[in-house]
Amino acid sequence: MPECPVCGDKGLVRVRFESGEPDRFGICLCEWGERLRVARNGRHATNPLWQAVAAQRGIPLEAVVPLESLYDPEELAPLFPALAPPAPPAETLEAALIAAGRTRRRGRR
Ligand SMILES: [Zn+2]
Repeated sequence: MPECPVCGDKGLVRVRFESGEPDRFGICLCEWGERLRVARNGRHATNPLWQAVAAQRGIPLEAVVPLESLYDPEELAPLFPALAPPAPPAETLEAALIAAGRTRRRGRR
């Protein structure tokens, strides 16, 4: 069973509009969506992973948007209770690890 009831662990959610405008694909706010938002390969900035996934699935890039741009926070809150408080972004974790490394090096002197 998928862990994320919103995207089914795919990271992308197809959103259809009653108005008939073209479907959009929201990048989920779960762990899987967060992985798609990563625009980094080690130290190097890259295109976000969702671009590769969209291209692979034949989804036009302009149809892909963050899920939070399609829904209000009040609509998303019940679906993602884990978001409050928000998890630290990957860069923060990286910075913390780098800082820890510096501390360790200093300790050896
Ligand atoms: Zn999800």
